Amino acid sequence: MYKTIEDEVLKKSAPARLKTEFLQHEFDRLRTFCALIYIASIVVWIAYDLILSFIGGQPFTWRSLVFIGAFSTLVIALRLIRDARHFQTLNLLFVFAMAFGTRLLTEGLPGDHQPAWLLLAASTTLFTASVLPLSRWSFFGAQIVTWAFLNPFYNTGIEYMGLSGVMAISYSAFICGLTIYSFLILRKAKLYNFIMSKLLLDQAYIDTLTEIPNRRSFMTRANQQLNNAPRENDHYLAMIDIDNFKKVNDVHGHDVGDEVLKRVAQDIKSVMAHYEYARLGGEEFAIYLAGVRREDVEGLAGELCRVVREQPTRHPVTISIGLARVQDGDTLNQVLVKADEALYESKHTGKDRYTFHCPA
Ligand code: GH3
Ligand code: MG
Ligand code: MG
Repeated sequence: MYKTIEDEVLKKSAPARLKTEFLQHEFDRLRTFCALIYIASIVVWIAYDLILSFIGGQPFTWRSLVFIGAFSTLVIALRLIRDARHFQTLNLLFVFAMAFGTRLLTEGLPGDHQPAWLLLAASTTLFTASVLPLSRWSFFGAQIVTWAFLNPFYNTGIEYMGLSGVMAISYSAFICGLTIYSFLILRKAKLYNFIMSKLLLDQAYIDTLTEIPNRRSFMTRANQQLNNAPRENDHYLAMIDIDNFKKVNDVHGHDVGDEVLKRVAQDIKSVMAHYEYARLGGEEFAIYLAGVRREDVEGLAGELCRVVREQPTRHPVTISIGLARVQDGDTLNQVLVKADEALYESKHTGKDRYTFHCPA
């Protein structure tokens, strides 16, 4: 069964919106990894610069300091940025600085050593780029910048048709093909994994009929708010039940009942957009209102009753709401019970209204 669902998903090409979301997700996950890769590259670059200065007899000049300054600025920028799109440009700048700096380093080596070290540097850079969370343009940009600066034939005196030249060309083609292929294949596999897990998460946390969050989602998110959100203002929980819904089903049929459920869900979504709302099951919904005053809750509950009641439709319905204030030490289940008691009060005092739970 999983295979069939997976095949269905993988048959479609991913829309641009999902690709952007995937790139952001990858970047969020790998920000620390990217910083480590940058820092390791800088450390290796400095180590080689020092080796060339002390053993190779090259002076450690102001140019080294300029490069170290540029590398450090890019690492700081990486720590500051949050948007994956900015990382694509930043990485290109880093590859540019690193490839340029490495080119200058290798120029301090004896001529016949240069091509091999340039190839080593190019392959390391390309391999590293292939595992970073890059978009296609940024990865291919890194390839171009790398070969522009670390080209083993530029200014090294190596003959294209000589033994070293042919070996360098073959190895460059191999490393270029290998890194492009692994980048594209890994990216596709990771993108499809992302799409599959998103689909499964959506199915686990979204109510199929009304397409708003379900009970599982509500319990997780409301619990999170109850335990973590700052309590400058009060928190309230609302339980909602459609009035005489059985009659809608009996008179108009189950399909019309389903339409009414979807409509009420949309009303809740529009009035309570800033709060955690969900369909708990059947014709019952819940809302967790964090950081509100009692007047706000009254306003929102009254507005919701009005919007549902005045909806221009062939099958008008009303709703009843029970409200409970979250008190210190309350668990989510305790507040749900209180809101349910208040809802019972609304039902027994005429429906189409809201009632606050009052402690006995
Ligand atoms: P009250 O005003 O006291 O709430 O009366 P009610 O008729 O709404 O009472 P009750 O809660 O017993 O009715 C709930 C009905 O909701 C019963 C069930 O058939 C119907 N129902 C539950 N889930 C669905 C659903 O997914 N679709 C449809 N169409 N009906 C549903
Ligand atoms: Mg009910
Ligand atoms: Mg009902």
